[in-house]
Amino acid sequence: MKLKVDLFSDTGTRPSKEMREFMAKAEVGDEQLGEDPSVNRLNEMVAELLGKEDAIYLPSGLMANQISFAVHCRPGDEIIMDKTAHPIHFEGGAVSVISGASINPLDGENGIFTTEQVIKAIRTSDYHHPRTRLISIEQTSNLGGGTIWPLDVIEDICQLAREHNLKTHMDGARLLNAVAATGIPASKYAEHFDSIWIDLSKGLGAPVGSVLASSRDFIEEARYWKQRLGGAMRQAGIIAAGGIYALKHNLERLQEDNDNARYLAEEMARLKNIEIDPETVETNIVIFKVKGLTAEQFSKELIKRGVRVSIIAKDTLRAVTHLDVNRQDIDYALTVIKEVTGS
Ligand SMILES: *Cc1c(COP(=O)(O)O)cnc(C)c1O
Repeated sequence: MKLKVDLFSDTGTRPSKEMREFMAKAEVGDEQLGEDPSVNRLNEMVAELLGKEDAIYLPSGLMANQISFAVHCRPGDEIIMDKTAHPIHFEGGAVSVISGASINPLDGENGIFTTEQVIKAIRTSDYHHPRTRLISIEQTSNLGGGTIWPLDVIEDICQLAREHNLKTHMDGARLLNAVAATGIPASKYAEHFDSIWIDLSKGLGAPVGSVLASSRDFIEEARYWKQRLGGAMRQAGIIAAGGIYALKHNLERLQEDNDNARYLAEEMARLKNIEIDPETVETNIVIFKVKGLTAEQFSKELIKRGVRVSIIAKDTLRAVTHLDVNRQDIDYALTVIKEVTGS
């Protein structure tokens, strides 16, 4: 059966007709020489949104994380992050290859760790240990179920980092979903971090790229890494224009995705053989457990009926709402899930 409702990931969003038209008309130049007006414009927009001195357009979010780690860390340094963090599970082991840093994974709750956990994790200056260099936070936490890092926890952890001379990084792949949910401006979250990036190709609906923002000096270093890794492009304005369009038109509507996810979770909580606490669904990610069927069997039954979700573990699945899924689609998915769970 043809896929009707794709809840696999918010990366599945496709550029709309209007976005494509805007992209087709983009002014372009040689991005590698800093001469692409559309890329430059996008960088300015994100630097302003995040309240940073400068920003750099990159082909992916993965590269934004890895370049940040490479700028902050030297080989042998250690990065503190949650055990569910994206660089640990989904970046092909790049941390060990590119920055040569190691990771100290913390056992947070739904992807959120505490100041006390960080205090325990920071190494002493005994040369037997790796040097703690960086604390990295994922807003929202993907495998945590789209959970939002509260601003006061961020403030405390970043204050602690400064006291210990540590750098701070935000993987803001879904920061703007958190902004939509809390009403706290992106710059308010960003001001505490030395480096921060947003993804354009997820909920924002652009086809390619992320933008990393920081101080002028940091972005200058990041430019070297972008070149080294083959991330520097030429007439990239064509794709960057998708990001410009997205920031102008698709920011406000992110709360719809958050609302749809909450609705999906609340309705699913009523069904037999589904385990989910809708209260934990703060943004656009719904993580749930199934009973009676394995996650793989459940997912196959959904696919047969035109609905796709992703598998997280043997009994755990993830549904992500986004721009290309409306309330009607959610209702269709719910009908299918009802049928498959025998509710
Ligand atoms: C998707 C994602 C990334 C990587 O972004 P890409 O643009 O897919 O490379 C990094 N961190 C988190 C939390 C993500 O969800």
